[in-house]
Amino acid sequence: MIDKKLVAWGSSGNIIREIAEYGAEQAKKVGAENVYNFTIGSPSIDPPAIVRETMERYLNTVPAAKLYTYAPAPGYPAVRQKIADYLSETYSVRYRGQDVIVTCGTSTCLAVLTRVLLSGGGKAMTFAPYFMDYKYYAESVGSSLIECPTESGTFQLDVDAAERYITPDTMMLVINTPNNPSGVVFTRERLEGLAALLERKQKEYGHPIYVVADGPYRELVYDGQEAVYIPSIYRNTIDCYSFSKGMSLPGERVGFLAMAEDVDGYADIMAACMGVIRSFGYICVSSFWQQVAVDCIGATSDISRYRENRDLLYGSLTDMGYTCVHPDGAFYLFMKTPEPDAEAFARRAMKENLLVVPGDPFGTPGYVRVAYCVGHDVIKRSLPTWRKLAEEYGLGK
Ligand code: PLP
Repeated sequence: MIDKKLVAWGSSGNIIREIAEYGAEQAKKVGAENVYNFTIGSPSIDPPAIVRETMERYLNTVPAAKLYTYAPAPGYPAVRQKIADYLSETYSVRYRGQDVIVTCGTSTCLAVLTRVLLSGGGKAMTFAPYFMDYKYYAESVGSSLIECPTESGTFQLDVDAAERYITPDTMMLVINTPNNPSGVVFTRERLEGLAALLERKQKEYGHPIYVVADGPYRELVYDGQEAVYIPSIYRNTIDCYSFSKGMSLPGERVGFLAMAEDVDGYADIMAACMGVIRSFGYICVSSFWQQVAVDCIGATSDISRYRENRDLLYGSLTDMGYTCVHPDGAFYLFMKTPEPDAEAFARRAMKENLLVVPGDPFGTPGYVRVAYCVGHDVIKRSLPTWRKLAEEYGLGK
């Protein structure tokens, strides 16, 4: 018999993709310029120029048979070393090449680490709102995801709430800052408070509590905000990163996990990660793309374009009377819906070809996520529709 839960996950699909597909259909009917699709967190900005130069260099200098060969399962040693050197220099946490595993984006890191860290039992925890796939990863290994609230209204990390939600069953805590879907960047003060709490709880429970730092947006911070590198403040952290967002390479599927040697249970975790990767049938990350992306590590797309989008969207929506959390990072704006049922609002907006995602699957009803990684012109053209809806809901009066 096939597990009914897996069938349900596969059949219901992903609400983000469903709305986006509706948008694609509408674009055929009414013209792409009349559909304002804010559903997908896929960069609209070109990768930095160095990516194309590096691709061309590899294509022109490395024979095809060598370029497209199988890479070692954890990644090429030279690629792992480059990542380790970059992290060590940038964040002052010491990594060696063997502390890094090249993965298919952060999704793989999260799926693999969830399987490994919960293999002896226990639960995962995260802060709501959160990236919905965490739940599937935890449930697919027969565990569950505990959703700890953030501070009401600001979505900032709430250390007191964390203290109430952490139990002896808590084995791993997934932290995503800058956050999808809120755009909030957790402050150093709060993260250090959390780190102190976790140290205390580890001693009390007599087992490690691992932080899985899901950081694909860490370069995407605006106005001098700091995206704290969590491994530098809490030892039992595993860093998860991807080239999908900051380097605009989401479809090429390159990322990595990095774990310093002093993380508790280091050798077993590293070995078990490789075991899970093998059991998932991954073989390796694209040989070509892991070399290209990592040769460009540190380069980012022109992030100022996202900041311009954020400023226009946040400024316009709040002027119209909508309530939004100020997004300091990533490329999402989280907006309180003018009616409590976020899905009803999203469906009303859909009729105007304005596509946003309800907050419910992110663990936060009453909000919609607006992904502003779109062309600036899309935001400009969408404003009259936002205004029409604001008037209809009686906002700004
Ligand atoms: N984590 C968060 C918070 C995300 O928003 C995403 C993608 O949107 C991912 C992980 C997975 O991205 P990727 O596997 O492309 O790195």
